[in-house]
Amino acid sequence: MNPFHFNLTIDILDIIIVAFLFYRLFLLFKGSRATQMFIGLFLLIILSFVAQWLNLNALNWILSSLKTVWVIAFVILFQPELRKALTQLGQNRILGVFFKVEESGTVSEIVKACSQLTQKGLGAIIVLEQDVGLRNYVETGTTLDSKVTSELLVTIFTPPGPLHDGAVIIEKNRVVAAGCILPLSQNPRLAKSLGTRHRAGLGLSEETDAITIIVSEETSMISIARGGKLKRKLDINALRNELVEKVSVKGEEPVPTT
Ligand code: ATP
Ligand code: MG
Repeated sequence: MNPFHFNLTIDILDIIIVAFLFYRLFLLFKGSRATQMFIGLFLLIILSFVAQWLNLNALNWILSSLKTVWVIAFVILFQPELRKALTQLGQNRILGVFFKVEESGTVSEIVKACSQLTQKGLGAIIVLEQDVGLRNYVETGTTLDSKVTSELLVTIFTPPGPLHDGAVIIEKNRVVAAGCILPLSQNPRLAKSLGTRHRAGLGLSEETDAITIIVSEETSMISIARGGKLKRKLDINALRNELVEKVSVKGEEPVPTT
């Protein structure tokens, strides 16, 4: 085989991969707060190429001695975007065929509970703790320490049980409290039809990184509040997908497939 031809193919492949990566990066950063920083960084990279090309020694020296700092600065500045990018890569549908993300036991119990709650026309609010601790909110309710089962969740939210009002908080893979009071969102853009249950779920998601599932008593609709945003009208499958993809139920043993 002609070595030149081989190199050319490899080079074209190389260019396509780099272009694709830049395109994905651009999509990721587009519209986010990081856009300006990204453009700034891009300009610096171009400047360093120009300095090298024109033999601007002093400028080249400054820019190249900053190179290591750049890498660290890049990781620090773009940490949220990098996390998102890596998670998206892990969720890639093609990779998903080979590495199926297992639905954890906790997630399937929560999904089952929500399905039963909607069928019974009961309201619920279930909080899944992430990195930010929720001790303050746990203390407003009744402390529990039990395995997450759909039966327990449905029982808690069935009136006139003493714990049916307020939120259940799940920490790692344990139900740690029920009847908890969450902070209400003051967001003026929230639909007037949404009452305190939805405002409480949203409010917590504005103050912490927790994920809150809200089952409406009035409409039997399922919503998820996360990062100050409310995703409404989820069906059971959509809820399952959201949870499997987004929730890191820490300390969870994967469910055996066989
Ligand atoms: P739904 O669609 O189920 O009616 P909603 O958003 O309209 O929900 P409300 O009808 O006001 O809300 O629901 C009241 C219930 O929400 C209460 O019974 C209580 O269980 C829960 N709730 C209200 N405020 C809080 C709070 N601050 N923290 C946790 N739970 C709350
Ligand atoms: Mg209501």
